[in-house]
Amino acid sequence: MPFGLLKYGLSAKYPARRHFPKAKDLKPAYDVVIVGAGGHGLAAAYYLAKDWGITNIAVLDKGYLAGGNTARNTAIIRSNYLTPDGVRFYDESVRLYQGLSEEFDYNIMYSVRGHFTLAHTDAAMRTSRWRAEVNKHMGVDSELIYPDEIQRLCPSLNLSDDVRYPLLGALYHPPGAIARLDDMGIAPFLISSSVILSCAQRLMRRICSHCKEPVTYPAKMYQDLNMDPGIFEGVTLYRGRGCDRCKNSGYAGRMAIIEAMTVTDEVRRLIITRSSAREMGKVAIGQGMRTLRMVALDRAREGVSTLEQVLLLTAH
Ligand SMILES: Cc1cc2nc3c(=O)[nH]c(=O)nc-3n(C[C@H](O)[C@H](O)[C@H](O)COP(=O)(O)OP(=O)(O)OC[C@H]3O[C@@H](n4cnc5c(N)ncnc54)[C@H](O)[C@@H]3O)c2cc1C
Ligand SMILES: [Zn+2]
Repeated sequence: MPFGLLKYGLSAKYPARRHFPKAKDLKPAYDVVIVGAGGHGLAAAYYLAKDWGITNIAVLDKGYLAGGNTARNTAIIRSNYLTPDGVRFYDESVRLYQGLSEEFDYNIMYSVRGHFTLAHTDAAMRTSRWRAEVNKHMGVDSELIYPDEIQRLCPSLNLSDDVRYPLLGALYHPPGAIARLDDMGIAPFLISSSVILSCAQRLMRRICSHCKEPVTYPAKMYQDLNMDPGIFEGVTLYRGRGCDRCKNSGYAGRMAIIEAMTVTDEVRRLIITRSSAREMGKVAIGQGMRTLRMVALDRAREGVSTLEQVLLLTAH
């Protein structure tokens, strides 16, 4: 397989798919000219067109589209910033990112991995605690965690004291994500013949068993969330009130929720014909796949996690 990939990569027979149209000749005038086609330039052009109907726009770049810093493979999409204004702004950005693949019908490879800002000094711990409190206050899932939990969530990190700067803790931000790390232009037939299963997963927080209590939500809330309260008919939902045992968070521990798509013959056919992610998802659900949202709702119905967690961790 590696040799096959190398041969494929070096051969001119399967040129990489063009993701953007070729640059056109410039017109004599535009309503808006944006210099720099990085994340901000392209987003400004896109939302001017989408939300304001301004479409006569030129985006100029000395390099290539979506280049600049935005193109670095290590970019993290997150909203655990320090100032309330920053948190609000980036939280909205993260929300927009989550819907982009659907909106464009183009897989931007958005992948939620969770983000750790490691703290090696007391000062870093103080800032992490400060950030966690600002974030929580603004409704962003972010908390200070200690080496035992870091070890559980990320076992490959070296947590020994026997290093120059031992790890004291981390600011953990479960929604932290990356995008388009993996689009290497591999031919669909190579994917369809080698991939047998595709998984998405999130870590869902468990309700603290020491302060767990039933909770009901007003009908207006379901209405605002565009959710059918009927899906909880006859079910008691729970939350954690907060106690000493869970440091007043109402949660203790996490569990994985997993959406797994088996690459069946039908899905294989869709990969080869480069069908959209939406279409593939529809077929997979028809064949019994349970989405992250469905699995998360089950955990809320079983009373092991909360409706807040369902909404925080899964898109519709
Ligand atoms: C090391 C590093 C790590 C970072 N990590 C993260 C992160 O993890 N998460 C995060 O959200 N942000 C991160 N950032 C910040 C993020 O990369 C930037 O905020 C973001 O890329 C800014 O977008 P932009 O469109 O303003 O600029 P850029 O993405 O830099 O785009 C600017 C574009 O303008 C073009 N350009 C420049 N001059 C001209 C010219 N004279 N004529 C024509 N075109 C021109 C360039 O070619 C480029 O394409 C990081 C930044 C750095 C440097
Ligand atoms: Zn508790």
